[in-house]
Amino acid sequence: MRVLVADDDATSRVLLKAMVSKLGHDCLVASDGASAWELLRNNDIDVLLTEWKLPGMDGTELCRRVRGETTDIYTYVVIVSGLIDAEYVLEGMNAGADDYIVKPFNPLDIQTCLVAARRVTDLHRQLARVREQLEEANLELLGRSLTDSLTGLGNRRHMEEDLFNVHARALRSHYSYCVAMFDIDYFKSYNDRYGHQAGDEALRQVAKCLRRAVRAGENIYRYGGEEFLLVMPNSQVHEAVAAAERLLHAVKILAIAHEARPTPPQIMTLSAGVACHLADSKRTISDVIGHADRALYVAKHSGRNRVRAAESELS
Ligand code: GH3
Ligand code: MG
Ligand code: MG
Repeated sequence: MRVLVADDDATSRVLLKAMVSKLGHDCLVASDGASAWELLRNNDIDVLLTEWKLPGMDGTELCRRVRGETTDIYTYVVIVSGLIDAEYVLEGMNAGADDYIVKPFNPLDIQTCLVAARRVTDLHRQLARVREQLEEANLELLGRSLTDSLTGLGNRRHMEEDLFNVHARALRSHYSYCVAMFDIDYFKSYNDRYGHQAGDEALRQVAKCLRRAVRAGENIYRYGGEEFLLVMPNSQVHEAVAAAERLLHAVKILAIAHEARPTPPQIMTLSAGVACHLADSKRTISDVIGHADRALYVAKHSGRNRVRAAESELS
């Protein structure tokens, strides 16, 4: 362990340092409160052996400061003092000390309290490790809860959270944003023809391609089944239509064979519907998605493999 001895009495300092070092610990020394605090702040100190009465800052104040710090290292504090009244002991313990040794001390007192110190600091180290592992596990869980496991894209929940923020910012800053809803054309017949596993693989390929094709600041999510939603903050309808067309093109050049498609081309294609939240519009998020969905319906019914913007956006 690393032990700090804080005592203004040179004899006590020398004696304590000799005992601590003999027991195999690393020992630092300070002769006043301020330099003890400096050493405490800049070193991972496992044990502080401090006199109550120190020039500058007394032992109980040091104790309070140590307890006020939030680090993973627990510093076991022992007041080693000539003050023997029970009130001093209680006050020291209330200030955060773990033990109190009355001077003159003997080597066994010091050795005994370092055994307890080792046990307590080890326990705190274990706790810190467990806490760290829990935090990592939580982060991973959070990531998983927002990710679609098949495609690796953000899932519906992730989309809802992000869209909520985009919408709130748009209202605050009076700007517009757009969304585009994509749907794979004739995907049911793809599954029927090639099997569900091939369908899953095609979904993964399309998702990867879409993720690569979106620009910085835009985000694409798996909305459900074979549907994806692109969110474009701070954009206008013509930019959103161009972005959707770029994504349709990117998937087309993957040229995933789809021989069961009833009309040419015999490759996998997407249709898309675009809708906007214009600056200062009263539309809710669900209005915007509803408009994109209706525009997608129009794209489907006018032949698929195309992008349509919601009527209201174009007028
Ligand atoms: P349209 O061009 O009108 O969109 O026709 P479609 O066949 O793509 O649309 P429909 O809604 O009839 O079928 C969607 C299909 O997507 C049906 C469903 O089995 C399939 N699907 C949805 N999610 C998954 C998935 O995770 N894996 C696989 N393999 N198929 C999926
Ligand atoms: Mg669909
Ligand atoms: Mg479809």
